Amino acid sequence: MTIPEFELLRPRTLGEASELLLKHGDEARLLAGGTTLVILMKQRTAYYPHLIDLQAIAGLDHITADGGGIRIGAMATPRAVECSPIIRNRFPALADACGKIGNVRIRATATVGGNLAHADYRLDPPPVFLILRAELVLAGPSQSRTVPIKDFYRGLYETALEPGEILVEVRIPTAPTGSRTLYLKFSSLSANDWPCLGVAALLRLSGNRCDELRLAVSGLAMKPLLIQGLEFVRNEAITDSLLDEITRIVDQQISPITDLRGSEWYKREMARVFVKRAIRELEKG
Ligand SMILES: Cc1cc2nc3c(=O)[nH]c(=O)nc-3n(C[C@H](O)[C@H](O)[C@H](O)COP(=O)(O)OP(=O)(O)OC[C@H]3O[C@@H](n4cnc5c(N)ncnc54)[C@H](O)[C@@H]3O)c2cc1C
Repeated sequence: MTIPEFELLRPRTLGEASELLLKHGDEARLLAGGTTLVILMKQRTAYYPHLIDLQAIAGLDHITADGGGIRIGAMATPRAVECSPIIRNRFPALADACGKIGNVRIRATATVGGNLAHADYRLDPPPVFLILRAELVLAGPSQSRTVPIKDFYRGLYETALEPGEILVEVRIPTAPTGSRTLYLKFSSLSANDWPCLGVAALLRLSGNRCDELRLAVSGLAMKPLLIQGLEFVRNEAITDSLLDEITRIVDQQISPITDLRGSEWYKREMARVFVKRAIRELEKG
């Protein structure tokens, strides 16, 4: 299938890209790795007469240590994140989630910014960014602003990006001392398929009791979801009844849809299994 004709615009600066976005409005989209956009255009699911290529803008693909945290440029590839020694060392769950995207050709072509901005409901990295409390830097025509990732997702394919804004950087703060993180992906079709669901967890223990638990999920609502109301686990031992209570709270907050990767009932069952598994694995260390 051929791609319909379009104009490829190649701005050299973020300011130019932003102006082009404003000028062409709904007739244009940013082109990063193109792994989603080009397929959608080839399939005739979407059509934009103007694509604004971000590749020619310098300085958007960095992965830089920032104190105990990290800054990732929007044009960094998932493959670069997966292989980055700083990320593997500080945020191994993020390297793992990026390493679980599709296959190595997709990971080396796609971008972190495209993955986040596309706002599909079943992507691997977003739940990890949610538990790490990442902040997204959005550059607009006249100024930049920073949005916590928990406020970035509005719904299916809907984000907090305003007209003319470009996601330029992801900032991850220092993780809580002594915390452990994990990402579990469950694919129900084939090993390198998109996730049926993904569970990211951060656990900090004090002795054998919980200090802090964060959970975020993918594939279980119309947007990546940070689970709320887990503060009650503080000072609790990780018992089967605590895990039941945690999964009850998760079950209340998710709203999975039936699709080709599983029915709503199946996804709720698998959510229970994978949330418990993630917490037990983190407890073991
Ligand atoms: C075969 C295949 C398998 C896949 N498997 C998985 C998987 O297992 N797990 C998973 O998580 N993902 C999977 N994906 C999805 C993949 O992660 C996304 O296609 C990719 O991350 C999108 O990044 P991109 O740079 O190619 O975005 P593009 O296709 O270039 O853009 C996607 C959207 O984001 C917008 N956009 C891009 N960059 C920016 C920016 N900086 N600021 C604002 N808006 C922007 C574009 O305008 C467009 O609307 C798979 C994709 C394919 C094709």
